Amino acid sequence: MTRPRVVVLGAGMAGLTAARRLARSCDVVVVDKGRGVGGRLATRRIGGATFDHGAQFLTTHTAEFAAAVAEWTGAGAVVPWFRGRIGPDGATDPDGHVRFRGAPTMNALAKHLAVGLDVRTGSRVTAVRHAAAGWTVTLADAGDLTADAVVVTAPVPQTLALLAAGGVDPTPHERDALHAVTYEPCLALMTVLDGPSGLDDPGAVDPASGPIDWMADNQVKGVSAVPAVTIHATPGFSHDHWDAPDDEVADALLAAAALGADPVAGARSVQRWRYARPVVEHPERCLVLDGDAPLVCAGDAFGGAKVEGAARSGAAAADAVAAALGTVSRRRAAPPGGVRGSSP
Ligand SMILES: Cc1cc2nc3c(=O)[nH]c(=O)nc-3n(C[C@H](O)[C@H](O)[C@H](O)COP(=O)(O)OP(=O)(O)OC[C@H]3O[C@@H](n4cnc5c(N)ncnc54)[C@H](O)[C@@H]3O)c2cc1C
Repeated sequence: MTRPRVVVLGAGMAGLTAARRLARSCDVVVVDKGRGVGGRLATRRIGGATFDHGAQFLTTHTAEFAAAVAEWTGAGAVVPWFRGRIGPDGATDPDGHVRFRGAPTMNALAKHLAVGLDVRTGSRVTAVRHAAAGWTVTLADAGDLTADAVVVTAPVPQTLALLAAGGVDPTPHERDALHAVTYEPCLALMTVLDGPSGLDDPGAVDPASGPIDWMADNQVKGVSAVPAVTIHATPGFSHDHWDAPDDEVADALLAAAALGADPVAGARSVQRWRYARPVVEHPERCLVLDGDAPLVCAGDAFGGAKVEGAARSGAAAADAVAAALGTVSRRRAAPPGGVRGSSP
């Protein structure tokens, strides 16, 4: 029997989780516009320095995700970083949740999850449209993919644009639900230092006021061979300085950081995360668009932000696709000579 074909848009935590779960019963292709996998599980190198510059750590609040993290820990893909919360003076609440980090980097976890999957990076989707049976996913540089089902894990405003480009018309209820989702931005500064940052173990600080939301020393964290600091600006600063030149952003954040060493000239970079974290989330873990062929919207904006929320959304999307494909198969099997979804 031909296995259903599913295209998963996005190789972040949500997309990779969905793809791994669906790969048991379907032929799955994951497409991502990025140069590598991971999405906001992002790591970058500048010279000899390494920076986690998106998600900093992951926590477990559900048995389901705790089991996944235990498996990744066993595989060496994540390790505990510290326990508790980060405050203005570093770690507090030592009885709190364990904060895990990817090993050796946050992006390495995504690479671990992508092993064995058909992942096509550098593949920008420009439209998703209805096909005779299923969906056509149009790539900017590589033609079309056809699929019986699609899981879209892009940030919701980008998902809406892809649907509009393909003439897919969500119901008014679905459109309202998707338009209700909002995100906050984050400007992230990465800078190499000429000496120790002065941030004590575990190497992270969450200042009580000012433009900095979080900063972490990637060397103390165990990510970088040399002193290398990631500074995340607050949503307010990020919003107000979104269009400011990189140097202006960097100078303002470095002045506020008051680090124990100087930045190395020419060894810094600013990343603009337009959709850093959801502010208004969809209340369910995914949204299945009404119609015969399943198209499921997922990602961290669906029922619980953060890395854990993205993973749980990806799992829910996979289950929704599997359930819907079962329904579709039965429905299509009913009429004699009924049309079967065409997969390449
Ligand atoms: C600065 C920052 C700090 C954070 N800190 C933490 C933290 O410490 N702990 C925590 O738990 N969470 C944190 N988060 C949130 C966490 O990173 C996210 O919740 C999670 O990684 C989202 O995963 P996702 O799969 O839903 O989305 P993403 O990781 O964004 O994946 C979506 C993917 O879709 C791809 N895509 C989009 N459009 C297209 C297209 N047209 N064609 C092809 N591909 C496309 C993108 O390239 C991307 O790879 C942080 C986020 C940021 C930005």
